[in-house]
Amino acid sequence: MKIWLFGALKAPKHRFSTLSSAAKHVDSKMESGSKKWGFQVKQGMKGASTPTVRGVLYMLMDSLNKEDNRAVIPLAHGDPSHFPSFRTAAVAEDAVIHSLRSAKYNCYAPTIGLPAARRAVAEYLNHDLPYKLSPDDVYLTSGCHQAIETALAVLGRPGANILLPRPGYPYYEACASYNGLEIRHFDLLPDKGWAVDLNAIEALADDNTVAMVIINPGNPCGNVFSYEHLKKVAETARELGIVVIGDEAYDKLAFGSTPYVPMRVFGPTVPILTLGSISKRWIVPGWRIGWLVTNDPNGILRNSGITESITKILEISSDPTTFVQAAIPEILENTKEDFFSKNICLLREAADICYTRVNEIPCITCPKKPEGSMAVMVKLNPSMLENIDDDMEFCVKLAKEESVLILPGVVLGLKNWLRITFAVEPSCLEEGLARIKAFCQRHAKKH
Ligand SMILES: *Cc1c(COP(=O)(O)O)cnc(C)c1O
Repeated sequence: MKIWLFGALKAPKHRFSTLSSAAKHVDSKMESGSKKWGFQVKQGMKGASTPTVRGVLYMLMDSLNKEDNRAVIPLAHGDPSHFPSFRTAAVAEDAVIHSLRSAKYNCYAPTIGLPAARRAVAEYLNHDLPYKLSPDDVYLTSGCHQAIETALAVLGRPGANILLPRPGYPYYEACASYNGLEIRHFDLLPDKGWAVDLNAIEALADDNTVAMVIINPGNPCGNVFSYEHLKKVAETARELGIVVIGDEAYDKLAFGSTPYVPMRVFGPTVPILTLGSISKRWIVPGWRIGWLVTNDPNGILRNSGITESITKILEISSDPTTFVQAAIPEILENTKEDFFSKNICLLREAADICYTRVNEIPCITCPKKPEGSMAVMVKLNPSMLENIDDDMEFCVKLAKEESVLILPGVVLGLKNWLRITFAVEPSCLEEGLARIKAFCQRHAKKH
């Protein structure tokens, strides 16, 4: 019955115990302080100032009650690939099998990706662009994550800062720290449908600001920015002279009333680094294929040397698997429209269930019905609950008592909010939300 259990994402055992048992064997002479070691922790990696999504997820999984015979309901992270309804397209599976069996792609790939795959990504993105990308604008990466890593490595320099959304996607905070970029947060405003606080952007930016990040469709809020709003974002960034990093991990996964417009459309206004992948739209996050694209019709990134340093950074990191790269043209060009429309219907249905059910629970409110991506932010009112002080405690007790995993907002920069991932089998989502409701009723303060 435990079909909803995670596949690869199991909490590694003995994470903490190995550390402490290792410490027992420390040679006392080594602790004397007589020797000065030449290494130290890299700046930005010290301590646990930014908890990662995975770190918190593992902690919640450790809290699960093993005695509970009910299935665990995973509403904490966006990977629906385990669910039968979200199986990837047959075309995509066949493309990978074919390229593997051809025996032509057991080799290393060029640093920036196979030419045919780069061309296919350029053509795929060109469908909705008012200008044309060339294959030279495309760099293949190990998922959208490596595109984030590369973009921030390229932009990081001493003294530089970057503007990140709050709530956001903590991988940016981690990569920014790692690359010595100072982080400045701008708010997404729940009362305005999670619009960017544009006044804050102008107040936060200075001569050392290099970029701002726009995630659209939004993770964690499930919002979709309107054309007019993105136009204002582009104009603001142009005035400030900063790059826009357009995270399109959820490209085209929009199902609400706001028409989806990709940030990359505004390339003629401001230079844009587009980050994307097949992980979410094709539901194959384990295949590790994504791209970093310079949307730079005015040649600003090229002339400033950014384009060249992307290649240099990629030369010192590993490449996505060659045979999956080789399958990209077939996947992007020949996946049938009905695969996408089926997923959009599923996600729309799930978003509706989530919005309706959440609003039946008094201590949780959803300010905006999700219109895209796979997750939504909802506000928790802990003052209505007995013995639950905040979002973290809520999530830990929920895991323990109801075997439901959701993410505390504090990990994403918003304390006392919760992120619910609704991209699961609808019946599973109903069950999860019913358990959350029962949990809240059980813990409600008596008046
Ligand atoms: C999932 C996700 C990514 C990472 O995508 P991969 O292709 O799996 O590396 C990047 N950004 C956002 C906003 C995401 O939700």
